[in-house]
Formats: sequence, C-alpha cells, structure tokens
Amino acid sequence: MNYLDNSSTTPIDPEVLDAMLPYLKEEYGNPSSRYYSLAVNAEKAVEEAREKVAALINSKPEEIIFTGGASESNNFIIKGVADYKKYYENKGNHIITSTVEHKSVLQACKYLNGDIFDNRIRNNAVSKFVKIKNTFKKVDRGFNITFLKVNEFGQVNQEDFKNAIKTNSILASFIWGNNEIGSLNPINNLCSIAKENNILFHSDATQVLGKIDIDVRKVPVDFLSFSAHKLYGPKGVGAAFIRKNNYAHTPLTSLIHGGQQEYGYRGGTHAVHNIVGFGKACEIAKRDMNKYIKKIISLEPEVKKILNIKYPGIEFLGDQDNKIPGVIGMIIPNIINEIFIKDLSNKVAISAGSACGISEPSYVIDEIGKKSVSSQFIRLTLSKYSSINDLF
Ligand code: PLP
Repeated sequence: MNYLDNSSTTPIDPEVLDAMLPYLKEEYGNPSSRYYSLAVNAEKAVEEAREKVAALINSKPEEIIFTGGASESNNFIIKGVADYKKYYENKGNHIITSTVEHKSVLQACKYLNGDIFDNRIRNNAVSKFVKIKNTFKKVDRGFNITFLKVNEFGQVNQEDFKNAIKTNSILASFIWGNNEIGSLNPINNLCSIAKENNILFHSDATQVLGKIDIDVRKVPVDFLSFSAHKLYGPKGVGAAFIRKNNYAHTPLTSLIHGGQQEYGYRGGTHAVHNIVGFGKACEIAKRDMNKYIKKIISLEPEVKKILNIKYPGIEFLGDQDNKIPGVIGMIIPNIINEIFIKDLSNKVAISAGSACGISEPSYVIDEIGKKSVSSQFIRLTLSKYSSINDLF
C-alpha cells in the first residue's frame, strides 16, 4: 500500500515504538502511585515526555497538559475557557472562530451556541451512518459564537477579526494550518490582535507540529492543541499547551474532575506508553525536522508535475506560498472523488478531506467557494517516508 494520507494519520516511527514497548511490558507502574520503583519510573517517563513535547515548541514543561488527542484538547480549551470566563469570572460569553476549523472546534462552538444538542450518529440498516435528527433541540447555554468566513485559501482576514470583536468577547480560536488544503493562517498577527483587545487566543496546531517552527515564547498564544498521531506517534494521545505566566496557568475549567493528574485539569491514570511515544515523536521531530521537511518540500513540485501531466486541468487549492509542507489539496476535473479513491484503494491511500468519522462532502471546500466541484476534491499528503514511487 502506498500511503499518501498522512494528514489523516502517520505511520508510527520505529524509534517511537521501541520507546513505548517497555511501558506496555515490564514498566507497567501507575505514575500516581509514587513510592515504589515501578511507579517512580513511570512518573519519570511521563515527566521526561512532557519535557520533550515542551522542547519542540519552546514552552515550559508544566505548560503541557497531556490529553487523549487534539479533538479532546480543542474541546477542553474552548469549553473550559467559556465556562471559566462566563461562570467564574463573569467576563463575557462571545467567542470568535472560523468556518473552516476542524470539526472538534466547530462542534464544540456549536454546542456552546446551543446549535447542537446531540452529535450522535447511528448505523442504519443500509449501513450508512445517519445523524440522529430527532434529538435536535435549541438549548440556551448562554454563549454567542461568531464563525468568520475565510478567503479563497481558507485564511482568516485580520480586518474581519478586528470587526468581529465585541466588549464581551473572551476567546478567539483559529486553526494554524488547514488539514484539508494546508493553508497557514497568519497566527502571529491574529494573536496580536487578540492580545491588543484583551481576548484569549487558541490555535489548533495539530497539523503543523513537527512541520513548521513553533515557538511559544515568540508567538503569545494562550492555548494550542496537538495530537501525537500526526507526527509519527501513537493514536489516542495529544496535548494542550496552556500558557503559564508567573505562577499560574491561564485559567480554564478542568476537563475531567477527579484525581490531581495533569495539574488537576484531567483526572485519570496516565496512558504512560502513549505519552512516552508522544514525547519520543517530539524529540525526533526536534532532531530531524529540518532534514525531513526539506525532503518533503523538494518532493512536492515533483508530485505536482506528474499530477499535472496525468490530470490536465487539475487545480491545486490553498495558499501555495504559505502552506504546510506536503499537504496537496486539489480539484481533479471529471472525477467523483469517492469512486476515484475506491478504485485506487488496493494500491494507494488518499482521501477526500478530513477523517472525521462520517462521509460528507468537505465543508472546507464549500467555504473557499468551490462547492460546485467539491465532489472532485482529493487530498494527498506526504510524510518523511514518502517517495515519488508512491504516486498513482
Ligand atoms: N485538529 C486538526 C486540524 C486535525 O487535523 C485533527 C485530526 O484529523 C484533529 C484536530 C483531531 O485530532 P485527534 O485525532 O487527535 O482527535
């Protein structure tokens, strides 16, 4: 199988797997048990992993909170800030985001808005996933969300952001690099606007970790979300970066009330093996990123050249001068993406957008003004293991 769906998930790096295995075998201690060597070793492993994740973004280790992945981090931060600001600090109830965020940002915001009550789906007799519609009920949770429209590359306009800010705005959340078309948002500038207006700033950085330099001492974001399985780490683990100034984290309500794990933000026994794997993946990214990103950047034009010859009239989407290396979103004329992907599926793995658990046409493509051709959208994403021979 030629794997070209690395925005969806990446293969695990063998070094990562080797680092994880002892924590699935002999080193099975619970880090919260503390007093005997098995527990001490596990706690040490978790803290070392925290240092490695922190090192990749130049944060302090204690600014890294381990979660179950980026969907969880996004929900934690958005709902946690909303709850804290409105109900604890009484500071406001307005949040600004964009229409092309990952579903875990969009749905968390719609939940706060009262626009979704129940996000479950059921598997009906014809084996199609169908959303449960009859549970819909508008609920007033007391929050107001502005979903900003984006430009033709899927980027947020800074003036639009400024104009959307109100006196009761508490948080802005914009994706750093788009998972479907790869465009980068001007995070530095958007974050400065938020800071000038005394609004907290979150960015979903899931697709950019290990692909571009992130330095939280230079970009004053309050919160970031990450996931290990997008940078050759295991699935089911991620992190929230929560800025800590002086002695306190930027306040937000805990995600899981329970034990004091993760500074009290997320109670529950640590998945030590996964956390160790995430730490290792970040250590490798810090060590090798320049090398493998260079390789991906030089491979991309070669891939596009072949695609151009093979599919005349092909259109590459997103900001080609300012994008995540290796993410190639395109419109291929005269195809139907589902059929195209299935036809290739014995040989090559590509996708028609994000892997969010339900097959729907890509809303990102609609939002950048390509609705009429959204069934011709194909996403191909390269990794450090990709080569020109992987191409179809
Ligand atoms: N945010 C973005 C931009 C993503 O691409 C993804 C994964 O597809 C997620 C969040 C969700 O990550 P996870 O699978 O760790 O929940």
